[in-house]
Amino acid sequence: MPGFEIFSDEERREVNDVLETGVLFRYGFDAQRKGRWKAKTFEKEFADRVGVPYAHLCSSGTAALVIALAACGIGAGDEVIIPPFTFVASFESVMAAGAIPVFADIDETLCLDPKSVEKAVTERTKAVVPVHMCGSMAQIDALKDLCDQKGLILVEDACQSVGGAFKGQALGTFGKAGCYSFDAVKTITCGEGGGVVTPFKEVYEKIDQFADHGHDHIGNDRGLEGHPITGLNFRISELGAAVGLAQLRKLDKILEIQRSNKSRIKEAMTGLNGVTFRTLPDPDGDTATFLTFFLPDEDQARECAGQLAKAGVGGCPYWFDNNWHYIRAWDHLKQRSFPSRQTLELVDTAPDYANMDLEQSHKVMGRTISMQIMLGWTDQDIDDRIAKIRQVFGT
Ligand SMILES: *Cc1c(COP(=O)(O)O)cnc(C)c1O
Repeated sequence: MPGFEIFSDEERREVNDVLETGVLFRYGFDAQRKGRWKAKTFEKEFADRVGVPYAHLCSSGTAALVIALAACGIGAGDEVIIPPFTFVASFESVMAAGAIPVFADIDETLCLDPKSVEKAVTERTKAVVPVHMCGSMAQIDALKDLCDQKGLILVEDACQSVGGAFKGQALGTFGKAGCYSFDAVKTITCGEGGGVVTPFKEVYEKIDQFADHGHDHIGNDRGLEGHPITGLNFRISELGAAVGLAQLRKLDKILEIQRSNKSRIKEAMTGLNGVTFRTLPDPDGDTATFLTFFLPDEDQARECAGQLAKAGVGGCPYWFDNNWHYIRAWDHLKQRSFPSRQTLELVDTAPDYANMDLEQSHKVMGRTISMQIMLGWTDQDIDDRIAKIRQVFGT
C-alpha cells in the first residue's frame, strides 16, 4: 500500500480516454462518450472481483458508509454498534443517518469483539458496522451469526481491506452491504472514491438512487427520470473512476507484493524479545497492508515505537496516540461539538462519549504498533529495514 506507488501508463491511458471525449459525468451523454463508461465498467469488474451481483462506485468511503446506512433503512433513533479503533468516518456516517453511534470493545484482532458487541445490544440496536482495520479482518463469521440471531443489520466497513477475504469470501460481502474506500492513500485509489456492494437487488436500487438525488436511472433522458426516494449527490467523476479502473486491474499484483514483503519482515521479527502478532482470523485472507504486532505493555510499546522512528524504520504508527483512528483523541465527539443540533435522539439519548468503559480496547491498543508495508521496497530496502529492527531489539 498505497496504490499510488505504482501509477503508470495504465492510469494515464484510462484518464486520456475520458479527456478525449470530454464527458466527465458518469451518466448519460451517450452519443459523445464513444462507449467509454469508466464508473460503470469499474462497478462491473469490482462486483465480479468480490463476487457479488451489485456494486456502486461513489465519491468517497465516507459517502459509501452514508449511502449504505441510508439504503439499509437505518435512521433516527436507531443505535449502531461500531468499534473505537477505526476512522472518524465510522461515527460521522452513523450521525449523518440521524442514528446513534454506540461503541463496543475490540480484541486482539483489532476489530470488534463479538462478546462485547453482544453486551452492547439494546432494544434500540439496529445495526452493527464492524471495521476490517489495517488490511485484516474481524471475526466476521461470529459477528454475522450474532446479527442473524438478534435480527440486526450487518454493514461491513472494508475501507482498509479491499481484496481481503475470510475463508475465501471477500470482506465486505457478508452482510446487507459492504463499503470500501479508494481515497488517495488506500490500497487502490481513485484519488477520491468509495464503493458499496450488496447481494440484494432492492438494497442496490436504493444505493444507486440515494447516491444521485434519488434518480431511478431508468431510460435515457435524465430530465425524465423518476425520483422514488430523496437522496444526495455522492457521484464520482469519470476521471476518478478511470484511475480506479486501472488500479483495480492491479489489485492482485498489489496483494502479491504486499504479502511477500510482509512475510519477510514478519519472519525476521518472529521470536524478538516481547513481540507477539495481531490475531488474524484467516491469515490467508490478510491483504498485508500492515504488519501489526504487540509489545507486553503500553510503556514498552510507546518506547519501541519511538526507537523504531529514531532508527529510521519509518511508517510505524502507534495508534493509541493517533488523532484519526483511535477514540482517545476524539475530543470533538466527547464534547459533542456537533455542527448543528443533530437529531433529538442523538442529543438526548446518546452515550456519554467522554466516560465510556473501553478498558479492554485501551489495553490492546496501548500495546499495538503497526508497520506499513510498501510496494516500492527493494530487497535491499527490506534487508536494511530488518537490520534496523534487529538493532532496536538488541539482537
Ligand atoms: C479511509 C476510511 C474511511 C473513509 O474513506 P474516505 O474515502 O477517506 O472517505 C472509512 N473507514 C475507514 C476504516 C477508513 O480507513
